Amino acid sequence: MTGRLVAVPHGKAYVISSPPCNGMVTPELARELEKVLERFASEAGFSEQRPVDLEFRPGVVGHHKVGRAADIYGVAGRGLERWHERWDAVLEEALRRQSREEGKAIMDRERKTNFGWRLYKALQIHGRWSQPGGYPVQLFGPWTRSEGPWTLISSGLLRAHRDHVHVAK
Ligand SMILES: [Zn+2]
Repeated sequence: MTGRLVAVPHGKAYVISSPPCNGMVTPELARELEKVLERFASEAGFSEQRPVDLEFRPGVVGHHKVGRAADIYGVAGRGLERWHERWDAVLEEALRRQSREEGKAIMDRERKTNFGWRLYKALQIHGRWSQPGGYPVQLFGPWTRSEGPWTLISSGLLRAHRDHVHVAK
């Protein structure tokens, strides 16, 4: 039986720019997302005066059918796919540098300012997502192979998540 579903709530330092129907989830998932998104937004320097926007889109398969999953496609006015492309380009640039210090400085800056990556890491570090028996932790996105938690993600599943982050609880 499917219980009552709710929209992912707005936070203090973040706003949901997509229609509420794009992120209808169980109250439990809504609470978890609210907690993590608020932390992501405030740690990334956003505030009530200057909140960051997040875009959800509805999913259809698996956990989505019962509201136990949510898909985030955009953050800070940019799609996750764009944030990931930027990350790859900056990483390539960093690896081309002769000095390791220079390369490290480039990536340190990117880790501060790439809000797609920051969102993914906040979801990974602060969120508690479901892990059905025998399955990996249900957090998939463009950074899953490089950052975890499931670094063995198949190429097909990685490709399916190149433009959004999926979480389930
Ligand atoms: Zn999904």
